[in-house]
Amino acid sequence: MDEIAIALIGLQDLDMILSKKKNQYLKISRTLDLGGGVSKLKNDVDKLKRETLKSQLEVSKMESDITDLESKSSELQQKLYGGSITNMRELTAVEAEYNSIKNNVEEINRKRNLAKDLVSTTTEAFINLSEELKIREVEWIKDKKNLQKEKSKLGKNYNSHLKNRSQFTDKIPDKIMRDYIRLFKSNNGVAIVKVNKGICQGCLVRLPIGDLNKMKSTDHPVLCNSGRHFLTD
Ligand SMILES: [Zn+2]
Repeated sequence: MDEIAIALIGLQDLDMILSKKKNQYLKISRTLDLGGGVSKLKNDVDKLKRETLKSQLEVSKMESDITDLESKSSELQQKLYGGSITNMRELTAVEAEYNSIKNNVEEINRKRNLAKDLVSTTTEAFINLSEELKIREVEWIKDKKNLQKEKSKLGKNYNSHLKNRSQFTDKIPDKIMRDYIRLFKSNNGVAIVKVNKGICQGCLVRLPIGDLNKMKSTDHPVLCNSGRHFLTD
């Protein structure tokens, strides 16, 4: 294996480590930025509280409507059976109004029961989520400290690895370096692969004899036919 290939493989291993550490670092940063989901949970709790209050208000409004209609209904009932109606037309009209109010009360009652069910459901969800929030808030104080420590440790670790990078990059010509960076990015961290018994270990296909000869005749890694990675023996 030539010196450039050795440097490329060393660089690739190091860049893989760096990339993993960077991802871990970013993941922790995101969790910290989002406050461990506590503020989202708070919003959800507030939303449930508002929904519960809204449904409760609807129930109250419907209950007051029912009370009004029932008092109107008993007035009509008194009229119907109190002997004050003297003609058929008035009787029919009062009966019609009475029936209409009765239907109306039934309809509002039905809606009120649905709204009451909703109040129970949202109240229960609100209580459960509030409990979860309390627990999460306490946990988050501890988690946050640990994550901050981990983040700072990862950052230092990343930087110390980064210092080792030049020992490889110093040995790689600019043109190969540019290709390496491009291939590392586009192929999930695989920019150079070995050739084993004439088979490219990246593509798992047998290389044409021309490629094998090209490998032997140069002192730097050549690109695989696929164009996805450098080859080395
Ligand atoms: Zn290949």
